[in-house]
Amino acid sequence: MCIRDRRSGFELRMHPSTKRTATIGGFVAGGSGGIGSISYGGLRERGNILAARVVTLEPEPRVIELRGDAAQKVNRAYGTTGIITALEMPLAPAWPWIDVVIAFDDFMDCVEFGFEAALADGIVKKLLAPVTWPLPSYFGALKSWCPEGKSILIAMIAEPSLESFKALLGRRGVVTLQTPTDDGPGKVPLYEYTWNHTTLQVLKSDRTVTYLQCLYPHDRLLAKVAEMRAMFPDEVLQHLEFIRFNGQVTCSGLPVVRYRDAQRLNEIIALHEAHDVHIANPHVYTVEDGSRYKRVDVDQLGFKHEVDPYGLLNPGKMRSFTASR
Ligand SMILES: Cc1cc2nc3c(=O)[nH]c(=O)nc-3n(C[C@H](O)[C@H](O)[C@H](O)COP(=O)(O)OP(=O)(O)OC[C@H]3O[C@@H](n4cnc5c(N)ncnc54)[C@H](O)[C@@H]3O)c2cc1C
Repeated sequence: MCIRDRRSGFELRMHPSTKRTATIGGFVAGGSGGIGSISYGGLRERGNILAARVVTLEPEPRVIELRGDAAQKVNRAYGTTGIITALEMPLAPAWPWIDVVIAFDDFMDCVEFGFEAALADGIVKKLLAPVTWPLPSYFGALKSWCPEGKSILIAMIAEPSLESFKALLGRRGVVTLQTPTDDGPGKVPLYEYTWNHTTLQVLKSDRTVTYLQCLYPHDRLLAKVAEMRAMFPDEVLQHLEFIRFNGQVTCSGLPVVRYRDAQRLNEIIALHEAHDVHIANPHVYTVEDGSRYKRVDVDQLGFKHEVDPYGLLNPGKMRSFTASR
């Protein structure tokens, strides 16, 4: 995914942690947000996809232009609502980004500082991800910057904001890494330890773990993170991503879960839900079962009937669909 045009000084507002392998079509069809969502929210926020061109699967294929809210008909539909052949995406200033790792004695101090940095409107950032110890002990090439026993905040800060960011931090944590973002060939960029990559880094050496996707309530954020941490101290290992959602700053949680069995996993999901931490279950395969947090409400099912009447695109993925022809 090419996200930056240095000549214009602009880049895509957000990209997934899979940026180095993903296509923009795959991101819009299968993704939700990522690096940049701390400033712009997810792909589902109004204005984050300007338009899409879609080719239908009919005896005589048509080319359809979807503009504005209508473009959401292809977002996170996993290719069930037509083949995307072009996208119009809004841009953001392409700052010189600085990768930063900060070590904290206590995970909640790390989250508290991350929240303050997320709310500091004058500090330009692209990523703020608190990760609890012992997850950094699995972080391969990054391990040298992750002191034993410390939780870390992974951040990407615009170079002109770095001084203010560090002034806000004060002596609360120790900066162990500060270097310009480099995701050129042969490099492992810092963002490949965040979003869904955090779990992947752990899975490289421990195949017994899995993960969840949580959305925390913005008005009780710190209390809820502390509550979930106390409820599953060694079983659900916290990894959060600060995001904007519906105009508020909150956290998307992508915790690494020590897997016991399906029943326990479902219990963990139910306990989160019972405590107002909502789960988008990544352990189901249909659009309907996995889909949560809709911002722009569009009729993806109705659109599928228009563009794929025989149900040939990703069959079974849209559970509510039955072929009309
Ligand atoms: C380790 C890891 C980290 C990830 N991190 C993130 C993240 O940070 N944020 C996030 O949102 N997601 C994330 N994802 C999910 C996903 O990888 C990304 O959304 C990525 O953008 C997918 O792009 P891709 O080109 O590889 O698509 P693919 O994986 O090839 O496709 C994804 C889906 O989109 C459909 N599709 C692909 N191209 C088109 C097209 N042109 N028209 C219609 N349908 C199409 C496919 O059929 C499939 O259902 C992650 C996944 C992994 C495994």
